[in-house]
Amino acid sequence: MKIVMLGAPGAGKGTMASRLSAHYNIPHISTGDIFRENIKNQTELGKKAKAFMDEGALVPDELTCDLVADRIRKADCKEGFILDGFPRTIPQAEALTKELSKTDEKVDHVINLEISDEDIVERMSGRRSCPKCKRIYHTVTPSLKPKTDGICDDDGETLVQREDDKPEVVLKRLSVYHEQTEPLVDYYRNLGVLDSVSGKNAIDEEFDLITKILDK
Ligand code: AMP
Repeated sequence: MKIVMLGAPGAGKGTMASRLSAHYNIPHISTGDIFRENIKNQTELGKKAKAFMDEGALVPDELTCDLVADRIRKADCKEGFILDGFPRTIPQAEALTKELSKTDEKVDHVINLEISDEDIVERMSGRRSCPKCKRIYHTVTPSLKPKTDGICDDDGETLVQREDDKPEVVLKRLSVYHEQTEPLVDYYRNLGVLDSVSGKNAIDEEFDLITKILDK
């Protein structure tokens, strides 16, 4: 099953993708995580991507599309994958369609998480993540709070706030989302693979709704 998670930054794509990945036993591919890993390891790609990410802009398509094409051809993607944060532009969506069509495949489901800008700003200001295992937490949402404030439940690391979750960058990311990513909702609706789900549901409820759609 090939799944794309759509939605504004902070809509909950990462949290859902990681639960769906465990449930269906298919890899969770987050382009944001791949870029952050490259930044941490100071690779050439990381150096190029960082400047764009720090200011809330998108990393150019030419740095992004090939990377995803390579990743989805790895052996662990044979039974499918969940893309989180890709595609983010129409050219990226077209590149993905083209790449999959080479082997007569296509995206099976696109889950669009809908949430208002106001809710996103509130949500992102409380988002924290573990720098080691990448697990996502929240300072306010009860089901996402760590057992001990500021510490990862799984490996005891100190949780961090992403640079690009800081308020001024969040506003820029939202405007980039509306301009460049939101048109993908129509793109995938026209392909007949889109389902929209409220990104404001409780996490368990949202997960149940999505698995019902995917299992139909
Ligand atoms: P995310 O973790 O998905 O919110 O991504 C964090 C940042 O990484 C974004 O704000 C972009 O700067 C960059 N990024 C992630 N995925 C993409 C993509 N598909 N295209 C361009 N830039 C991306």
